[in-house]
Amino acid sequence: MAGAAAGGASAPQENPLTDLSTFIAGLPKAELHVHHVGSASPRIVAELAARHPDSRVPTDPEALKDFFVFRDFAHFIEVYLSVVDLIRDADDVRLLTYEVARDMARQNIRYAELTVTPYSSTRRGIPDTAFVEAIEDARKAAEAELGVVLRWCFDIPGEAGLESAEETVRIATELHPEGLVSFGLGGPEIGVPRPQFKPFFDRAIAAGLHSVPHAGETTGPQTIWDALTELRAERIGHGTSSVQDPKLLAHLAEHRIPLEVCPTSNIATRAVATLDEHPIKEMVAAGVLVTVNSDDPPMFGTDLNTEYGVAARLLDLDEAGLAALAKNAVQASFLDPAGKARLAAEIDAYTAAAIG
Ligand SMILES: [Zn+2]
Repeated sequence: MAGAAAGGASAPQENPLTDLSTFIAGLPKAELHVHHVGSASPRIVAELAARHPDSRVPTDPEALKDFFVFRDFAHFIEVYLSVVDLIRDADDVRLLTYEVARDMARQNIRYAELTVTPYSSTRRGIPDTAFVEAIEDARKAAEAELGVVLRWCFDIPGEAGLESAEETVRIATELHPEGLVSFGLGGPEIGVPRPQFKPFFDRAIAAGLHSVPHAGETTGPQTIWDALTELRAERIGHGTSSVQDPKLLAHLAEHRIPLEVCPTSNIATRAVATLDEHPIKEMVAAGVLVTVNSDDPPMFGTDLNTEYGVAARLLDLDEAGLAALAKNAVQASFLDPAGKARLAAEIDAYTAAAIG
């Protein structure tokens, strides 16, 4: 701000941060850890609130910006639940999904594995088939009209217990929509041990789904070991506490088990005190395949481009380093080999044109 205010008429000065931001904005990207309801931006929430005038959520996007300023974690949950309350029928689900893809297209996100929690909707009375049809309709439209390829991770809301696990795996395996690639576990970790979900993950894996539980976000490395041994995790959501256990870091590196790192989310939820203390650098130094993601972007006041900017600063990345980070996400994704090759080539072509 101070620099901009100085405003001389001299020749444009090179600003590395601005240059990198421009590069990041245009960089084709993949996102692997981002939640469906958690991606509802003020614009989308305003549209949903307008459909349901009886809700207490503001319909004016400006008022919504204040609504999205969190006082503490409990307030975050309160706001999150009031957005959940706006998703009452299949048309709401379709609108949310398509509009999330629109926000992704604006950031040049070409591919995303969106974490969807069907249980939140089915328990509110939306029939499972209508829910699945709505997300699949939105997925096909987003790919055709916006150029964003969406895939689903159906996740168990851990706080809702084993009943929600049963319902989630039932919907995943019985309805098995075309876009579904993986099975996850979210919600709080404290008081929600991972091993109890083993039978549900076994069924999902037997049905051909990849295992991608959250682990080690708010608890220690043992939770990550449990995710690996009990839930047969192929990628770890967050994995922040992995850096407390050198053996675990070595295991993740050796077995090429990627981490879905979400820096700003970790600060917002107080899993990490400050961005400068974020352990992403240690993860990379240990040879772990690190991807950068936004988690619940509007709720944490971020987006994927912002997270790439954070990573650039924390890892001291230039354009080539950022392109390599984007390719990590492609490599760690569940795209088929042809899809991976296509997206990686797109990143290479963009980077070559940008840096010459
Ligand atoms: Zn998450």
